[in-house]
Amino acid sequence: MGARILDGTKIAAEIRAEVAAEVKTLAASGLRPGLAVVLVGHNPASEVYVRGKVKSSEEVGLYSEKHTPPDSVSTEELLDLIADLNRRDEIDGILVQLPLPPQVDAKRVLLAVDPAKDVDGFHPMNVGYLSTQRPGLVPCTPAGVMEILKRSGIPIAGQEAVAVGRSDIVGKPVAMLLLNQNATVTVCHSKTHDLPGVCRRADILVAAIGRAGMITRDFVKPGATVIDVGINTITDRAEFDRYFAGNAKREESFAKKGSTLVGDVHPEVAEIAGAITPVPGGVGPLTIAMLMANTVKAAKMRRGERSQKLEVRMQK
Ligand code: NAP
Repeated sequence: MGARILDGTKIAAEIRAEVAAEVKTLAASGLRPGLAVVLVGHNPASEVYVRGKVKSSEEVGLYSEKHTPPDSVSTEELLDLIADLNRRDEIDGILVQLPLPPQVDAKRVLLAVDPAKDVDGFHPMNVGYLSTQRPGLVPCTPAGVMEILKRSGIPIAGQEAVAVGRSDIVGKPVAMLLLNQNATVTVCHSKTHDLPGVCRRADILVAAIGRAGMITRDFVKPGATVIDVGINTITDRAEFDRYFAGNAKREESFAKKGSTLVGDVHPEVAEIAGAITPVPGGVGPLTIAMLMANTVKAAKMRRGERSQKLEVRMQK
């Protein structure tokens, strides 16, 4: 029997609808959460991502604005822009689209974002909050992975979870989120010995590697839940055949566009997994939905913090 398909598009739509309802309620009390996106230069992939983020903000009713400094921008100029966004009360979330040009000190720029407005959850303060289980802003893609598991009724506590990949953006935070939900977590990387053997222990296997179709059926325990974070574009016919030979729907879109997407998990895994996220339409749609959710969370947390501070001051 084939795996149950975990429909990320549907789950993301549910989350966006919940966020839109919350934005409406906040707006009725005079608060419209705002997101500022900083897009440097003209990277075509970044432009597509940012367009999606701005469009989605509008759809859920958030205020959004886009800043587009030129490719030649300096670190100091970007720091000035971030400082200005940090100061502005109507901006609750700041997102700096990566990558930044080589002359820019990306770490300094990301560190300058007010942790309370860090809707990407990349600031060391938010990383610390996550690892010490304090309220904070969690990176969007890993948060999306957890929503898929939760909303699909996949048990986490006590389960063996294996994350393949240890990036700051996906692998490490997803491992921490699973650990915080009481999974027994193993994090794998390029130096892991016997990767297939370690992966086969997993009840929940998260692939965040950046290598097309690397997780084949011999990496997967039958019945396991497989979450495929990878997004890889393939244009080569032989490679296409390796993943999608005989798949009429894919064949049609490949013939039309000359490319198709494949995850880090080989499509054959769907034959033995218990549940699996497709690519496209799995984790991908969750990333933007969680950005919307994080912006609302940031707005509420900042206001909550302020009213708490006010209360403390009034008590003194
Ligand atoms: P990354 O920073 O390049 O990290 C890749 C990780 O995979 C590294 O930890 C690396 O190990 C590990 N790795 C590479 N080759 C390996 C191998 N042969 N065996 C075992 N581990 C190996 O990538 P990322 O930013 O985490 O992204 C991972 C994938 O997710 C990419 O396909 C990316 O496009 C996708 N992604 C999707 C979304 C979304 O919205 N769905 C968001 C973000 C990323 P080392 O640390 O040892 O080098």
